[in-house]
Amino acid sequence: MNNGKICVSVCAETVNEFIEKIEQAAKNADVVELRFDCINAEEFDCLKIKKLDLVLSQIFKAKTDKPLLSTFRPKEQGGKRKLSEQERLNFWNMGYDSCWADLEPDVFENSLYWLYQPRICSHHDFSGTPKNLTQIYNQLKSIDCVDIIKIAVQADDVIDGLALMKLLERAKAENRELIPIAMGESGVWTRILGLARGAFMTFASLDEESATAPGQLTAQEMIDVYRVKELDETSEIYGLVAESVAYSVSPQMHNAAFKFHKMNAVYVPFAVKNLEEFIRRMVNPKTREIDWNFRGFSITIPHKIEIMKYLDFVDETARKIGAVNTVKIEGDKLLGFNTDADGFIEPLKNAYGDLNGARVAVFGAGGAARACVYALQRENANVTVFARNSEKAKSLVVDFGVETQDLQSQIEPLKNFDVIVNATPLGMKKGGLENETPATAEQLKGVGLVYDLVYNPFETRLMREAFSVFAPTIGGLAMLVAQAAAQQKIWTGKDAPVKEMSAAALRKLQS
Ligand code: NAP
Repeated sequence: MNNGKICVSVCAETVNEFIEKIEQAAKNADVVELRFDCINAEEFDCLKIKKLDLVLSQIFKAKTDKPLLSTFRPKEQGGKRKLSEQERLNFWNMGYDSCWADLEPDVFENSLYWLYQPRICSHHDFSGTPKNLTQIYNQLKSIDCVDIIKIAVQADDVIDGLALMKLLERAKAENRELIPIAMGESGVWTRILGLARGAFMTFASLDEESATAPGQLTAQEMIDVYRVKELDETSEIYGLVAESVAYSVSPQMHNAAFKFHKMNAVYVPFAVKNLEEFIRRMVNPKTREIDWNFRGFSITIPHKIEIMKYLDFVDETARKIGAVNTVKIEGDKLLGFNTDADGFIEPLKNAYGDLNGARVAVFGAGGAARACVYALQRENANVTVFARNSEKAKSLVVDFGVETQDLQSQIEPLKNFDVIVNATPLGMKKGGLENETPATAEQLKGVGLVYDLVYNPFETRLMREAFSVFAPTIGGLAMLVAQAAAQQKIWTGKDAPVKEMSAAALRKLQS
């Protein structure tokens, strides 16, 4: 539990829209931010003070008992419109009782700032994370009558947020209230963990469409998925390490499991470009620069192979597959595992039964295909890999001794196979592949079972082709949940609540 607040930003074009959104936002918010720079020109003519006054007084009649925070941000600080200094001073000098204010340093000193309480003084940088963050903090701190300092900077890599978290430590030591935000996908972790580490407030959006800054999560997600207000400095931290984390449903699954077990733990997306620097400065207990209870992470594209260099131990399954998807931090050691093989085979055995001697065709020769081949051979299945890349196909022949066929040439009907596995991205929602399939209904006639590892969409084109010839199917969600459940077991030693994890993933996929 922490004392931090969730502020929901409301950006509306008209007075009525503003009032409606304030009332919606107040349901999840501790504070509602009114982005007055969003109002359209007709309703908000900054030069006609009387009219402006009227507009604002209507908005402040919105029915809510939550504090309202006024913001009137110029374009260069991330606002919606160009505003002259005079326009901004006119706005702030009107003042509203019991209203919070977020002012930029240049208008702070010249405006009637004392009309507002409390007063946030903020600095935004959308071009990157400046090297002189401490200097910026000192400048804002030196302005008289600033109650809360807000520094929001764009993060290009996960490590950029580290400087902000260090600044937060300093602010705490000096008894200053700070709102540190790293914007963008790489900074999401600072939005989630900030409150637990003593930040005064974190910002969230009303819904997915109305984020007012890059990387902003919805207030609902902050509360229901990440439970940001329940976290503290002792919370166990787990996460997803990948170059792109935006489309993942792993946070939904793992956080559902922690919630089910009532654990003081959270699973956070870490969008990582430079893996070496992330491991050295944020993860490895021997070298990291942040004091936190980091316990483990899932790791995926493109870091599954590189991570092996930084580990103290890699288990046999991961070594044989040649990739790690799970890291556990135990004491000061980093231990690597691969749960894709178990996650893949469990739903298949449940649906098909004994795989001994089964003839299985695997489409694709990437990381997932390697895990499938390893798991199938463990069950004594006969595997043929269909690959378009001859180098990758060769490495599967060398490492696993499988037969391979060229995926690009016209493939024969597949009726001689008991099981077909799609381990390519064909059929995925992302990347315009949704209408693609590695095999048609005609080719699938007589096949015993079709297993598509693609999980988004929930029902793929390949599965529909299989339905039409009455071939049973398994979708990718089953593997996704099973491999995540195996990760939970490695990290916590507990049996994972598979039903809850599956429902959480499905909710996100269907949203
Ligand atoms: P990967 O390492 O990038 O491998 C992808 C494989 O598919 C490569 O062999 C690639 O060939 C081939 N491929 C890519 N585009 C293709 C196309 N248009 N036509 C034919 N082949 C193509 O990816 P991965 O990690 O193995 O993942 C593969 C799929 O499995 C993805 O859809 C992923 O979402 C899914 N998956 C699901 C789960 C789950 O839990 N359900 C887990 C892991 C993966 P090249 O080498 O020639 O590019």
